[in-house]
Amino acid sequence: MEKEESVIKAIEEIASQLGEESVLVDDLDRSAYSYDASGMQAVPSAVIRPSTADDVSFVVEVANKFGIPITPRGSGTSLVGGPLPVSGGFVVDMQKMNGIIDKDEENGLVRVEAGINVRELNEIFPDRFMPINPDGAGFSTVGGLIAEDSASPLSIRYGTMGDLLYGVEVVLPNGEIILVESPGPPSRRSILNLLVGSEGTLGIFTSALLRLPRRPENRIAYKIELTDISDALILQEEIEKSGIGVSAFEVYHNYKELVEGAGTEAVAFIEISGTQECIEIWDSRLKSILGNMEFPFESMTEEKADNIWEGRKNLYEVAKVREEALKVVSLRVYPSLVRDTVQEADRTGSRLKLPVISVHNPLLGWVIVAFLYNPIDEKEVERAERAVSNVISKSISLGGSVGYGLGAGINRITQDMDEGFVSLLSIIKETLDPSWIMNPGKLIER
Ligand SMILES: Cc1cc2nc3c(=O)[nH]c(=O)nc-3n(C[C@H](O)[C@H](O)[C@H](O)COP(=O)(O)OP(=O)(O)OC[C@H]3O[C@@H](n4cnc5c(N)ncnc54)[C@H](O)[C@@H]3O)c2cc1C
Repeated sequence: MEKEESVIKAIEEIASQLGEESVLVDDLDRSAYSYDASGMQAVPSAVIRPSTADDVSFVVEVANKFGIPITPRGSGTSLVGGPLPVSGGFVVDMQKMNGIIDKDEENGLVRVEAGINVRELNEIFPDRFMPINPDGAGFSTVGGLIAEDSASPLSIRYGTMGDLLYGVEVVLPNGEIILVESPGPPSRRSILNLLVGSEGTLGIFTSALLRLPRRPENRIAYKIELTDISDALILQEEIEKSGIGVSAFEVYHNYKELVEGAGTEAVAFIEISGTQECIEIWDSRLKSILGNMEFPFESMTEEKADNIWEGRKNLYEVAKVREEALKVVSLRVYPSLVRDTVQEADRTGSRLKLPVISVHNPLLGWVIVAFLYNPIDEKEVERAERAVSNVISKSISLGGSVGYGLGAGINRITQDMDEGFVSLLSIIKETLDPSWIMNPGKLIER
């Protein structure tokens, strides 16, 4: 059967089961789903909007029958092309599935559909919250967070999404619906962890059981002007020695220059949180460290602290304002190698004539590098790809890994991992998804 013909037949079958309104085929709709926050583009043949796990299962079965690729999508805030249908086929938009199934306030447990977003999660319990808010604005969905094993500035204290996940319902690439959950708190996590961070390549999450932590009593955030990246390293050492309970620490490099056209080379944001008593002690310790180092800083409480983390979306907005796209890579290195990694990104950017912003978390050794480029200039696209590849190689040679938090997306991880590990991953993929219909072109190569 001709490819086009099989796509038409599959769309007809899906529309007759889910309803015409759940299948979008207009050019405008397809175009709206062809982007993520990276600014890269790939247009799907159709967008399917399921309402139940059974709908998802039906869609996957039909796609399997016709060999049509499927790309799950949450809110499309990925910075690495994760929800883009780079091999064509259908995008499955999970946002209609955003309900709360049940909750246990005492234990902070909540079972939700996978399309619910961080803002909605934050409204479930008055004294609990979702600490993983990667895009800063609360748009990311639970499905996207699990698929990327997302991290956030608060990951120092709360870990990544996998640490909050107690169980998941997933539709496998053959359409089977599986519940991976123990009756009590999870003990044998190996299968659950296999799915966490699988970037939509092993199945579509339809619901999840999460445990949300309590909101801390008090919070203070600090904005600190640094003269160069080495200052961040010294600051991190002093903080570690002092025993201050830092819950978030991020350094933005080159960012002010690109956004405001001026300013210091690096800006650090730190948050401390806890009881009033702890906060008072830590606040005075931190202020004395900052004073001794003569770093200009501003401190702020509660809502103003939230604005700081909302500021993360500027990373994406700077690209929009400049009408450019982002090639982003997320790396994790030992903290002592953060400076080398950031400097390598700078050198690569200036050699290839691409503006570069980096955000790093000194305590986690987590570095996000974003190169800005013009997506319609082929030469620039090629230079941006080379830039990412160069930073990945450098990071690996320093002993780093790729994909922490953000996922690898179209960057894939083949060059990052041991050959044996990659072949094990391929065997798992082949076993679960022999036709490679589930988000092909991401994470690993066929
Ligand atoms: C300014 C900015 C800053 C960011 N900073 C961070 C950061 O610090 N840390 C971080 O982790 N991320 C960060 N991101 C990226 C992004 O917010 C996260 O990766 C987020 O988890 C994606 O959620 P989403 O719902 O938008 O998923 P999408 O972007 O729609 O999809 C992401 C991936 O998840 C898969 N997926 C989505 N839903 C499902 C599902 N139900 N089942 C199976 N697979 C699914 C997709 O196929 C894709 O591979 C940032 C984004 C922006 C715009």
